[in-house]
Amino acid sequence: MKKIYMDYSATTPLHPEVISLMRHVMENVYGNPSSLHSFGREAKKYLDEARQKVADLIGAQFGEIYFTGGGTEADNIAVIGTARANEKKGRHIITSAVEHHAVIDSCKHLAKTGFEVTFLPVDRYGMVDPEELKKAIRPDTILISIMHANNENGTIQPIEEIGKIAKEHGIVFHTDCVQSVGKIPVRVDDLGADLITISSHKIYGPKGVGALYKRKGVRVEPLVFGGGQERKIRSGTENTIGIIGFGKAAELAVRDFQEENTKVKMLRDRLIKGVLAKIPDVRLNGHPEKRLPHNAHFSFAYVEGESLLLSLDMKGIAVSSGSACSSSSLQPSHVLMATGIPEELVHGSVRFTLGRENTEEDVDYVLSVLPGIVERFRSFSPLAARKTV
Ligand code: PLP
Repeated sequence: MKKIYMDYSATTPLHPEVISLMRHVMENVYGNPSSLHSFGREAKKYLDEARQKVADLIGAQFGEIYFTGGGTEADNIAVIGTARANEKKGRHIITSAVEHHAVIDSCKHLAKTGFEVTFLPVDRYGMVDPEELKKAIRPDTILISIMHANNENGTIQPIEEIGKIAKEHGIVFHTDCVQSVGKIPVRVDDLGADLITISSHKIYGPKGVGALYKRKGVRVEPLVFGGGQERKIRSGTENTIGIIGFGKAAELAVRDFQEENTKVKMLRDRLIKGVLAKIPDVRLNGHPEKRLPHNAHFSFAYVEGESLLLSLDMKGIAVSSGSACSSSSLQPSHVLMATGIPEELVHGSVRFTLGRENTEEDVDYVLSVLPGIVERFRSFSPLAARKTV
C-alpha cells in the first residue's frame, strides 16, 4: 500500500543531508565540546558552526542562540525564566488562549506561585487583536508571549504589530516560532522579539533539540543548573550530534525556503480546493489567507476526527486530529474551542500538514478516498440525517 505522510507539523523526517552529516559526526566526532584537547576543540568547532547556521536562519547574532532540549524547554525557559528574572518589577504576564501547552502550562505553573496571567481571546480565525493586547497591559506586566503561527489551524498572528506594542511599553516579548520558522520569514528584528523559540524536528532536523533566541541584554533565570553550558542558560553536556543535525537543517531551511514553500503551498491549495468542492458540510479552520503555507485544517460535520484519522491511516494516509500534542487526550482542542467553533465540529477536526516529500499524486489520492470515508461515517450518523450543525 502507498504510504502518504501529511503530518509534518507533528514532526518531519530527517533530511538526507542532515542524516549524512549526523552519521559522520556519530562516527568521528565524540569529544566533549567543553574539553580543551583536540577532540573537544573539534566538537566545539562543529557546535559553533551549528550555532551560526541557526542564528542565520532567524537573522540573529551567534551569541544570541542558546541550544535546548527542544521547543518545549525553550518555551519554559522563556516564560518561567523571564518571570523569575523580573518578578521584582511585576508579576503580570500576557499570553493568548491559543498558545502551545508548553507556554500555557508554564503560565499556569507561574499562576500557582503568585503571578497573574491574562489569556487574550482570539477571533474566529484564531487571531489575537492588538487592541485587546493594549487594553490588557498593566504597569506590572513583565512579559508578553504570543506565538507566531498556530500549530493546529496554521493562523499567523500580527506579530510585528504585537512586537511594536511590547517595545513601546518596555515589556519583554517572547514569540514561539516552532511552526513558522522555515515556512514563512522569521527575522528577529522584523518581529521585534526579545525571545524566540524554535525546534529542530519541525524543519527536517532531529528530535529533542531546539533553541532559544535571547536578545543581548534580556535577562532570564535558568531552569537547569550544573556545568554552566550554554552560557549558564541551559546547563548539561550539549547534545552535540543533535545540535549539529539541527544546524544542517537550519542551513537547508534557508537554502530551500522559496522552492519548497512554493511547491508545498500549491499542493496545499489543491487539497483545500478539492476537499471543499467534493465534500459538503465541511469548514476550513484558521485564517483563509494569513495561514502557514503547508496547513489545511478542516472540521467535518457529523464525523469523529479520530475515526476519520484511523480510516485514513488504513488507507496509508497519516494526518492528525486537531493537534498531535493533544490528540491522545481526546480533550476538545483548546485552540478550536477558543475560536468559538461548536464542540460537535471541533470533534470532527482533522489537520493535514504537507511537506517536502508530498506530490500532486498524494493530494489526488487523498481526494479520491476522503469523500467516501466521510460519506460512510455520515451514513451511520443520526445527527447527519437530521442536519443538526
Ligand atoms: N510550540 C509549538 C507551536 C509546537 O507546535 C510544538 C510542537 O509541536 C512545540 C512548541 C514543542 O516543541 P518540541 O516538540 O520541540 O518540544
